[in-house]
Amino acid sequence: MKMSKMFVQTLREFPSDAEVISHKMLGRAGFIKKLAPGVYTYQPLMWKVLKKIENIVREEMDRAGAQELLMPFVQPKELWEESGRWEVYGKELMRLKDRHDRDMCLGPTHEEIITSVARDGLKSYKQLPVNLYQIQSKFRDEIRPRYGLLRGREFIMKDAYSFDVDEAGLDKEYENMAQAYKRIFERCGLDTKMVQSDSGAIGGSVSHEFMVITDTDAGENDVFYCNDCDYSANSNHAVSNLPEAVVDGKDYFKETKVIDTPNTHSIEELSAFLNIPSTLILKSLVYIVDKKPVIALIRADKAVEETKLMNAAGGIDIRIASSAEIAELMAEHGFDAVPGFIGPMKDVKIIADNTVKDMKNFVVGINQTDKHMTGANLEDLGVELNYTDIRLVERGELCPQCGKPLYVTKGIEVGNIFKLGTKYSKPMNAVYTDINGKTHPYVMGCYGIGISRTAAAAVEAHYDEHGIKWPIAIAPYHVVIVPVNIKDELQMKVAGEMYNALQKAGIEVVLDDRDERAGVKFKDADLIGFPYRVTVGKTINEGFVEFKVRETDQQEKYTPEEATEKLINNIKAVL
Ligand code: ATP
Ligand code: MG
Repeated sequence: MKMSKMFVQTLREFPSDAEVISHKMLGRAGFIKKLAPGVYTYQPLMWKVLKKIENIVREEMDRAGAQELLMPFVQPKELWEESGRWEVYGKELMRLKDRHDRDMCLGPTHEEIITSVARDGLKSYKQLPVNLYQIQSKFRDEIRPRYGLLRGREFIMKDAYSFDVDEAGLDKEYENMAQAYKRIFERCGLDTKMVQSDSGAIGGSVSHEFMVITDTDAGENDVFYCNDCDYSANSNHAVSNLPEAVVDGKDYFKETKVIDTPNTHSIEELSAFLNIPSTLILKSLVYIVDKKPVIALIRADKAVEETKLMNAAGGIDIRIASSAEIAELMAEHGFDAVPGFIGPMKDVKIIADNTVKDMKNFVVGINQTDKHMTGANLEDLGVELNYTDIRLVERGELCPQCGKPLYVTKGIEVGNIFKLGTKYSKPMNAVYTDINGKTHPYVMGCYGIGISRTAAAAVEAHYDEHGIKWPIAIAPYHVVIVPVNIKDELQMKVAGEMYNALQKAGIEVVLDDRDERAGVKFKDADLIGFPYRVTVGKTINEGFVEFKVRETDQQEKYTPEEATEKLINNIKAVL
């Protein structure tokens, strides 16, 4: 490719709405162009990267025994009603009507469609197991599209779905996919961690996410991990053993009574006022889960993990209640407490964290402003409690597997694998017939990879202040050849010969034949992130070209023949 003909516009500035590295770099280097929030044109350079990722995914999925198909992007409401998700999916699902007033949606994921495809085609146990996948654009009307390709509304995903006769078959395929994913990300030049995770709106019992660990702002997930064993989990799923804490306030409170605690709106204020550790306070928080109030109880030195609470409440949507909603709840139940003085109350769903179970002689709000009960015990609360884990793990708490301290880091989720079981096959009556003629729902798994997010994550993991450093396997081109002065005959001759030789050897090479200053060409080369740059300048008069490795910024001098050979060897070794 001649740079003078390449459809690319590098910019002087980062896009004004870009907050994270990959969005800034991909925008400025001319890889993406925004059309609407979360909706981008993949310019030719970007499309080359995406196709390379797709091809790696394809090769590894095929190698793992999966078969590619392509399902429609537009989906009818009826299938979503069969699974029960038309009602519950919420605003992320882009709904539309056709000219006959039929409800449709743009596919955010394809469990319903694939399950209907399978039930028409997979009738007998003899046909199973099967794993079907596709690579396609998805649409999700994300509440906060941001970070460029990392959280788009329209994005490219690989989604695979497996069908087995039983759990044992699913377990085997799940492991098969986990191995395929490891190979895929490795080949893309990405270090990933496979972590336990919540199964979210898609449901199912077991799931893992593949995270690109990053210290940039783009890591939307907190990952807890142990250095002494293999435990690692998304914060929405992580558990830990707690170091011992004071949970019995008998040395502080001799009797159970209601006392004045004026202006103690926060846990800090309350524990300072009473001169007690916060582990002796029972904290009550009001959330709205699927539009209904839920009170979460937790020992006050710990925080609530919202996804865990949402799952425990059986919902699919959660947020903390506003002051107005709290006031309304109070009024409905004959109280008037402001936040800071809330406590358990009858006839409201209450979810108590496991940390509450052992608390004795503690302090708790009683829904009266400026008052608390001290020396309280669980039976004083007047409500029936069930305990579950809704606690957010913190750094330094102890690994649930080996008891050593846990660490936390940020991660970008690039893929995930789920054991769905019969979550879709059962309600959609998608069954196979066994050897005795009996029917059973398929046992399913699903496996996603964000193709466009993976490309952006690769930038988050490989860049410097000058631009992108693409891993060779997914770089749009492998090499750029920069003749310093296009009017210099020798420079152009050598550059042209190298260009031809590399192309002949199957290397993807760009010749920067633009009539620009060398500085401009070098800047663009760094910004776009070609893994190798060959500069043909004055030193060619002594028979040398300059060879630069983008990853390390290392520069060396070689003869054109040596440089060509080195490039071919280095690049072929990775592909
Ligand atoms: P997230 O928690 O980040 O919203 P998710 O759990 O909704 O992700 P899945 O439904 O499992 O994601 O989708 C599979 C893969 O698709 C994800 O692992 C991710 O790589 C990618 N993906 C999901 N949402 C987006 C998005 N809005 N933009 C780009 N890629 C996405
Ligand atoms: Mg999502």
